[in-house]
Amino acid sequence: MFENKKILILGFARSGYEAAKFLLKRGNEVVLTDMKEDHDESQINELKELGIKFVLGSHPDDLLDNTFDYLIKNPGVPIDHKYVLKARELGIEVINEVELAYRLLPKDIKFVAITGTNGKTTTTTLVHKFLLEDGKNAHLTGNIGYPLISFLDKLKKGDIIVMETSCQQLENLTKFNPDIAVMTNLSPAHIDFLKSYENYKRVKTKIFQNHDKSKVAILNFDNEDVMESTKNIKSTVKYFSSKREINGSYIKNNAIYYYDEKIIDLSDIRLIGTHNYENIMAAVMVVKELGVSNDSIVKVLKEFKGVEHRIEFVREVNGKKYYNDSKATNTKSTQIALSSFKTPVVILLGGLERNHDFFDLKDYMGNVKYVVAFGQCRNRVEEFAKALNIPVSNVETLKEALEVANKESVSGDTILLSPASASWDQYKKFEDRGDEFKKLVNEIKAE
Ligand code: ADP
Repeated sequence: MFENKKILILGFARSGYEAAKFLLKRGNEVVLTDMKEDHDESQINELKELGIKFVLGSHPDDLLDNTFDYLIKNPGVPIDHKYVLKARELGIEVINEVELAYRLLPKDIKFVAITGTNGKTTTTTLVHKFLLEDGKNAHLTGNIGYPLISFLDKLKKGDIIVMETSCQQLENLTKFNPDIAVMTNLSPAHIDFLKSYENYKRVKTKIFQNHDKSKVAILNFDNEDVMESTKNIKSTVKYFSSKREINGSYIKNNAIYYYDEKIIDLSDIRLIGTHNYENIMAAVMVVKELGVSNDSIVKVLKEFKGVEHRIEFVREVNGKKYYNDSKATNTKSTQIALSSFKTPVVILLGGLERNHDFFDLKDYMGNVKYVVAFGQCRNRVEEFAKALNIPVSNVETLKEALEVANKESVSGDTILLSPASASWDQYKKFEDRGDEFKKLVNEIKAE
């Protein structure tokens, strides 16, 4: 398989680079095309030495013809790209780097795949941490970690692969058949890419498409769209629920349960918010299938502060707790953050002006004692706070915003950066905004 073939790789990126390297080493003829001309020079040179042909900066109409055996598409490339359509016409199979690697994986390993609209990264990270804590050989791949193909030569019997799986990846998976597949939840999103919510749900459900009873599906019992979309899957199905006591993982007496077994009190968990309890239950369901002990699960949950920039606990100083939720670039994410706190909250809100409606936050502002508006859209944030009679300050930068928040808060309060706005007015990416916030918080002097 994948030897002496002619293959077109569409899209450079990390996965295109790794796929090209792997295929060239196995003696395939590889052409790589990308609209962007500038790429990492050392990667370009390395692939050139292995004999690649590059077509960078354009996608000539006649590049793809029937001499090719496969088209390997980067997940980010639109599903109706002209090469994808032409490949279909010519009968050339379109796959992606994950499908390629999956077909070549040794059979004596376990594969866990996690998908859903929200909570993928957190759930995937938790599964990986639980496994490592328990002494298992686990590898993180997909949207986080390294491309799957980069592990192929390193895997040993009994290793476990944990993969965050996006709908863009699922679109071109055909033989992919994970031993355990998780669907955290479904709600309308990414519809641009997949054209409609119906199509999005169909593509997400492909994670179970090759399942039979020997494979396990872990589903969110409370999410109607998940339950509806999966009603015909052939897997052994297991559930988690944050709303009722079910056969599976659930919350009872402020603790997380796995069937009859109590795993941990909610008060011992560092992560906060019902959405995170759901992610934890999904992850517990997975690792229980893989024999992980409760001790390992509890140890991780007592320590894990959250994935960076997602309601990430930064520090407690002078009795105040600071959380970095810079990933909240829209009001929906900030709603979730605000729902997670029971203490009084001083919130730092604002960023890029996109004419988004801050009044979407109205019903979630019950605990907010003070709003600090910052960034390009700060005047609209100020208007919103004033309309709700919440005290507010209007400043330009994050640094100034934190200074105000420190002044306006007392011991017992939470200071939350959950800006409900993109960062591009003042930063290159939301990670830079979150990093600056954390740096400033870590400089605060204890009194
Ligand atoms: P993803 O990888 O699917 O984007 P993350 O784990 O990175 O998800 O979380 C991103 C944001 O999505 C979080 O900050 C939170 O706002 C929201 N979120 C996380 N988990 C859930 C969940 N289980 N249900 C609803 N929203 C969630």
